[in-house]
Amino acid sequence: MSIPTNLKVVVLGESGVGKSSVVLRFITNVFNPTSEATLGASFVGKALSFNDKILKFNIWDTAGQEKYHSLAKMYYRDADAAIMVYDITKRDSFNGLKKWYEELKENGPRDIVVAIAGNKEDLVENEAVSPQDAKAYADSIGAIFRKTSAKTCTGIDQIFKDIALKIFPELK
Ligand code: GDP
Ligand code: MG
Repeated sequence: MSIPTNLKVVVLGESGVGKSSVVLRFITNVFNPTSEATLGASFVGKALSFNDKILKFNIWDTAGQEKYHSLAKMYYRDADAAIMVYDITKRDSFNGLKKWYEELKENGPRDIVVAIAGNKEDLVENEAVSPQDAKAYADSIGAIFRKTSAKTCTGIDQIFKDIALKIFPELK
């Protein structure tokens, strides 16, 4: 049995984009359509195995402080990866990622792996950000890009796997 490798993943983005829903979906595989509140715990964990290696993702979600763009330094400290989430139906939430990225660069480790989640993919008929624009922005900062839906489960496991493979390319 191998000893799990712990990865700290922080989740960033404007309030209402679905950060807590994405985390909840990944952790417990449920979607709560009336969920307003965020997970109370400072972080929640889930392990995925890749062949004989076990990766334990410790995922940090905010308790609503993102409204003030004032996440504590400890939120970013020693993070291995960050998932920046926007809502595909809200252009402002995408434009806001620039500011989140600046805060991440200011407060996070230099070599942090960044992933962008275009969430609420199930509402694609109301799409306000083209996937091409999102991908171009992701490429410009060297980030992973995935469309996700916490509602339908689209792309959720994949974005965590993408992160794992970027950190440990030998797991492919
Ligand atoms: P947070 O403030 O970023 O943590 O966002 P929440 O996870 O609290 O979600 C905000 C609202 O968006 C809630 O009403 C969720 O049910 C809803 N929501 C989250 N993800 C999705 C999704 O993928 N699709 C749809 N249709 N709604 C979602
Ligand atoms: Mg939340």
